[in-house]
Amino acid sequence: MRLPRQLEGAVEMFRRLPGVGEKTALRYALEMTTWSVDQTLFFTKELGNLIDLKRCDECGYFCDTALCSVCSQETRLESGIVCVVENVANCLAVEKSGVYKGVYHVLGGVINPFLGIGPEELTIEKLLERIEKHSLKEVILALNPSIEGDVTSAYLRDKLDKLPHSLIVRRIGLGVPMGGSLEHLDSLTILKALENRRSF
Ligand SMILES: [Zn+2]
Repeated sequence: MRLPRQLEGAVEMFRRLPGVGEKTALRYALEMTTWSVDQTLFFTKELGNLIDLKRCDECGYFCDTALCSVCSQETRLESGIVCVVENVANCLAVEKSGVYKGVYHVLGGVINPFLGIGPEELTIEKLLERIEKHSLKEVILALNPSIEGDVTSAYLRDKLDKLPHSLIVRRIGLGVPMGGSLEHLDSLTILKALENRRSF
């Protein structure tokens, strides 16, 4: 049975989301057909607001103002620790563990020659700038355990070694399986991984 164009369009949009297959997408779209006009308009308006989402001038996390909720807390910066993550989802995952009290730095991905992502596509220069500007003392590399994550960590290590002041550089440890992504781990595993960070 062919779906009407409007329904087909909505199914197609939902299918673009990670983990949503044809069946689930259809279920979402059908559910929305039961909503009032106001509910549907409100839903689409909220999604449209994502266009206006801003990035923190410092760390790259999302925010409403120039600085995000973490960077605007003085104590977080005073800790002297910066946790380097691939993306915002990983930043949220570490924050959810509740133990980390430093600031973040969102790299915007990892080095991946196959996808044409080189170091200059990432916010590495900005990270080095921030470390110098705020005289940060420790860098925790919380990149996902993958070949690309390893390559990027090694590249960062090299860059950090060249900074004029000495730094403690650590990488999160045990408990994070190879090929896994931080956003899919529970808070306890992340907490353990942070505790088990080791010199790198
Ligand atoms: Zn920030």
